Amino acid sequence: MKITTKINSIELRRSFVCPYDHHKLLFLSKNSEGKKYVCTLCKREYPLVNKAPNFLPDGLREWTTNQYRSNKTLSKKSESMIGKWKPGFRGWSPNCWIKILSFGVGEGRITPIPKGSLLDVGCGDVAKGDVNTDVYFPSPLPENFVLATAEQLPFKDNSFDMVRSAYVIEHNLYPVEMIKEHFRVCKKQVEIYTDNSDWLGVYIYRLLNIGSIFHDEHYFKWSVEYFRNILNRLNYKGKVEVFNTSPSILVKMMSWFGKLPRIGIVFYRDLYAEIYKK
Ligand SMILES: [Zn+2]
Repeated sequence: MKITTKINSIELRRSFVCPYDHHKLLFLSKNSEGKKYVCTLCKREYPLVNKAPNFLPDGLREWTTNQYRSNKTLSKKSESMIGKWKPGFRGWSPNCWIKILSFGVGEGRITPIPKGSLLDVGCGDVAKGDVNTDVYFPSPLPENFVLATAEQLPFKDNSFDMVRSAYVIEHNLYPVEMIKEHFRVCKKQVEIYTDNSDWLGVYIYRLLNIGSIFHDEHYFKWSVEYFRNILNRLNYKGKVEVFNTSPSILVKMMSWFGKLPRIGIVFYRDLYAEIYKK
């Protein structure tokens, strides 16, 4: 589906700030290394790679730029900063059990597009935002794409009506910073989707030794109660609920029991947090 973006490239460029200190940037176009943004405070340089500004954190920024400029040598400093992790999709390939369990009809993704401007953080290959960010280049490349991590966004405060991330927070090492960044750059509402760790299906995954619980880039589990505690601690107004996005017939059947008092929560696969700013 083609999305008509509500933010043009000039507006997007005006919203950029340094992801470290939220300070002003200079755009330098005449340089032997190509176009880049330079922070007027910390002097960090953010090059354009593949036409997208590279606002990734120190270390990772150099690594990603080098990947696209076929220059594989990395400074010692960058090497020590990025650790073992490198950006790229490492999805588990579904085996026959997963295919049986996930058999069903529908897309199974979050579809409603808000009326205002939307920032899709960690957009992946199904970008839905007027502006989209991720730590690697999605395929196909969406409109208004920016390389950035979810916990260090290169945008001014209140830049977008809505900020959304779907199935990103479980991949992020700094989830609380990530929630705070979503809140900072949003004008009205934040939406965060992730897996419900209290879901009964997790035990089926354990029995069959398959599924998202064994994904090597999942670092945190999320439950309704713990997520609510974080929002309370940050003094954010909002709600945290469980639901099922899965097209799987099995998952849909499970949610018939969702109305059960106290234990209903274990029959929902997904978790949804909504934070209101105004
Ligand atoms: Zn800076």
